[in-house]
Amino acid sequence: MKDIQQDSVNFIQKIIDEDNSSGKWGNRVHTRFPPEPNGYLHIGHAKSICLNFGLADKNNGKCNLRFDDTNPVKEEEEYVNSIIEDVKWLGFDWEDRLFYASDYFDQMYAQAVTLIERGNAYVCNLSGDDIRTSRGTLKEPGTESPFRERSPEENLNLFSRMKNGEFANGEKVLRAKIDMAHPNLNMRDPVIYRILHASHHRSGDKWCIYPMYDWAHGLEDSFEKITHSICTLEFEDHRPLYDWYLDQLNVYHPQQIEFARLNLNFTIMSKRKLKKLVDENHVDGWDDPRMPTISGLRRRGYTPESIRNFSENVGITKRESIIDVIRLENALRDDLNKRAPRVMVVLDPLKVVITNYPEGESELLEAINNPEDSDAGKRDVPFSRELFIEQSDFMEDPPRKFFRLGPGREVRLRYAYFITCNEVIRNENGKVVELHCTYDPKTKGGSAPDGRKVKGTIQWVSSHHAVDAIVRLYDRLFLSENPDEKDDYIQNLNPESCKILTKSKCEPSLKTPKKLTYQFERNGYFVLDEKDSSDGNLVFNRAVSLRDSWAKFIKQGGK
Ligand code: ATP
Ligand code: MG
Repeated sequence: MKDIQQDSVNFIQKIIDEDNSSGKWGNRVHTRFPPEPNGYLHIGHAKSICLNFGLADKNNGKCNLRFDDTNPVKEEEEYVNSIIEDVKWLGFDWEDRLFYASDYFDQMYAQAVTLIERGNAYVCNLSGDDIRTSRGTLKEPGTESPFRERSPEENLNLFSRMKNGEFANGEKVLRAKIDMAHPNLNMRDPVIYRILHASHHRSGDKWCIYPMYDWAHGLEDSFEKITHSICTLEFEDHRPLYDWYLDQLNVYHPQQIEFARLNLNFTIMSKRKLKKLVDENHVDGWDDPRMPTISGLRRRGYTPESIRNFSENVGITKRESIIDVIRLENALRDDLNKRAPRVMVVLDPLKVVITNYPEGESELLEAINNPEDSDAGKRDVPFSRELFIEQSDFMEDPPRKFFRLGPGREVRLRYAYFITCNEVIRNENGKVVELHCTYDPKTKGGSAPDGRKVKGTIQWVSSHHAVDAIVRLYDRLFLSENPDEKDDYIQNLNPESCKILTKSKCEPSLKTPKKLTYQFERNGYFVLDEKDSSDGNLVFNRAVSLRDSWAKFIKQGGK
């Protein structure tokens, strides 16, 4: 497995190595990440970012951040800003090379004029529908447009009138004159420019014609002297067109290289579909911690390192596959295990009174901050007569393998003492509301001098010292492994993807959290939600549980 991954990581690097030895680019490596600012970036984009910036870094090259902002109708400033923030957060630096396709509109127009002058493009009056139907099929050649033989003079005249706003949307387009019988449908006189009377978030009302992706993208790469233009597999069939444009214009010509996009199970990744979740309020914005967006993952508690490691780990291939989202979660566990301080938090509290502990007194007990990090040190945790433990750590009638607290049973309180449960107090409805226990003062620190053992160790918080918190437990946003497969992915949303606990009790060190991410012992990794927390009002999101609970669930046939 490892070897296959190693190999696949190298397939683009191999091309770079070959280019370097043949001197193709004079040892230059210059890549770019070219998002369209029509939504927030998702984990798939993160893979492309890591790949493009990563290859540049490894090869002493450069990587540009370029906004492919050629569609004014769907693009917005908010998206531009979020993309800039996300790429920076992932840890990459484009230095002074932040570009916008819209800054090249004049140059692109000039190149279109050149193409017309050479007799390689024409203005076509056919409607969008007519262009589509006359394109033919994979088996049938297309039919030539009646406007195909217009002279360059007439085309130049019409094209400049298109630019000047003399025609309505859809009335005319500029098309490349290639071959209506070409086996590749993308080569059957594709549209280069369309008329769109729309205001652009950067160029305002200057333009009412906008370039199509295939035309714009190759030129952007060419203007920026990109060497390796890396994109996802669906553009493989567009490469002949990419090459044709640059060859006809006889301009600097980068190499387009395709790789398989990242797909994750239980996740959708199209910006359009994610936008629908936001617009219809199925989630709390683009940065909802359940979203696969980079901003959502950040708010969920993901670290840049975990995302970069994941990207590196899944490798680069030419073959489509679906990656198990557990690998993403494991990348976070691996990272946080090393660096997240451990603290004791009781998510769903049950009161415990230690009846033989003196009233009004307390003491400090020593706790280890992170057993995986010897530099993380220790802290003191207060212990007193009244404590909270997890509701789920007590059972009145425990099954054989339940090693936690029950009537007459003894457990270890983490970093504290052994306690034994003597009495169960209920409210008028019969619900257990309090336990009366005794502690063994000789077991301080968690071991008994007489060598007696207990099987369970549970976390606790001193009630007088506890800090209140709201804790959100997140689960998968979708129920099925491939929500995209179903037409209506909205129907597939997991109704239990967010559980909010409002009574959680934290140890006092969390009163002023020194870090953003913690391991709540036995409950998982949690991140302080900076957006929803305020002074004296803590909100934590669970990033991941300590172990994957879904693997077991799926094995048992759950879906
Ligand atoms: P979406 O369909 O999700 O909206 P897109 O491809 O339209 O994505 P762009 O903004 O055009 O989004 O993408 C910017 C770059 O990110 C492109 O180079 C694209 O190939 C790459 N990219 C997008 N999705 C993925 C993915 N799932 N895996 C890897 N790279 C991706
Ligand atoms: Mg796109």
